[in-house]
Amino acid sequence: MDVKAIRELFPILNQEVNGHPLVYLDSAATSQKPLPVIEALDEYYRQYNSNVHRGVHTLGTKATDGYEGAREKVRKFINASSTEEIIFTRGTTTSINTVAVSYGRANVHEGDEIVITYMEHHSNIIPWQQLAKQTGATLKYIPLQEDGTISLDDVRNTVTPKTKIVSMMHVSNVLGTINPIKEVTKIAHENGAIMVVDGAQSTPHMKVDVQDLDCDFYTFSGHKMCAPTGIGILYGKKHLLEQMEPVEFGGEMIDFVGLYESTWKELPWKFEGGTPIIAGAIGLGAAIDFLEEIGLEAIKEHEHRLAAYALEKMSTIDGITIYGPKEADKRAGLVTFNIADVHPHDVATVLDTEGIAVRAGHHCAQPLMKWLNVSATARASFYLYNSEEDIDKLVEALIKTKEYFSDVF
Ligand code: PMP
Repeated sequence: MDVKAIRELFPILNQEVNGHPLVYLDSAATSQKPLPVIEALDEYYRQYNSNVHRGVHTLGTKATDGYEGAREKVRKFINASSTEEIIFTRGTTTSINTVAVSYGRANVHEGDEIVITYMEHHSNIIPWQQLAKQTGATLKYIPLQEDGTISLDDVRNTVTPKTKIVSMMHVSNVLGTINPIKEVTKIAHENGAIMVVDGAQSTPHMKVDVQDLDCDFYTFSGHKMCAPTGIGILYGKKHLLEQMEPVEFGGEMIDFVGLYESTWKELPWKFEGGTPIIAGAIGLGAAIDFLEEIGLEAIKEHEHRLAAYALEKMSTIDGITIYGPKEADKRAGLVTFNIADVHPHDVATVLDTEGIAVRAGHHCAQPLMKWLNVSATARASFYLYNSEEDIDKLVEALIKTKEYFSDVF
């Protein structure tokens, strides 16, 4: 992969921050956007901005073709069997909430169980807490092993015939752990439960095949994979989506509206009430074209190399604790860490003065922070535009940070 050529397609990276060339290591929060995506949005707004699905005029037809064409690109991207299974949403959070509200309230009852893990993002915890409260079901957690992975034995011990829903992240935004979704899905199905996957951190970085995984729902966000904010995906198996009621009612999603009764459009539109996220979907389509041209396999390998390099270099820093699996092949391209006696917010602030953007805080995973026995951590996350040089700059700045704080205190 030619990182130098790739970087040139990301105009935002070509700037100085606080007098230093920007080193962007916060792609797990949101990725930067390449020229083909920026240009697709520009072209839409300059040349064919129009509402979709209604109207017979030329711009409306072009916008509809762009919007529905993006749906087909998403279908192919995750290998769903039909575009009826691809619903445009605002992002992972909205997608998971849609499943919890629509599928959950109809199928989960008192005494049933919902199973998640300790490593989940708040977006994959709270919708299930709410569902458990509303239905009288029990929310159960699969424990984590010492190295921040889950064991299939623990999955088997937690999932029971009472379990109706298992929901799990594919890749952890804190530990970097890659979870064995295919195997967990099998265990969920053997117990009569459905499998929901939070794919926010997987789809940007690796090839996902929903038919191979056999999961029932797969959710992700465009903004972490080079697309604009405000667009995401809910994939669901057709036979489940067909049984489910929409959660938003209004324009665009109806077939017939009477005074007291209405009927819905067929899939996928019954879940897309209101004017949809047209520019966002077109931008997501452009992002998928961009990622596929480079190749998801090449991106995964590149990030794997960066993670291995970062783990090796960062572990030489005195007093550093790195969270998650120690072996690079068990994890994705991010490193979450703490430096002894320096608060992670201070680490991030000092790095910012060097032009290096990392994230500090609980990363929307407070139960995981509790499990790690910390209140916060710092996180450096990598994407296709990062290089070994970025990691060298990070390590150098971390050593400086450590020295600075040991001199001050
Ligand atoms: N799950 C994971 C693992 C995430 O990293 C994120 C984003 N930080 C989300 C869910 C939520 O995604 P969004 O905010 O785009 O809905």
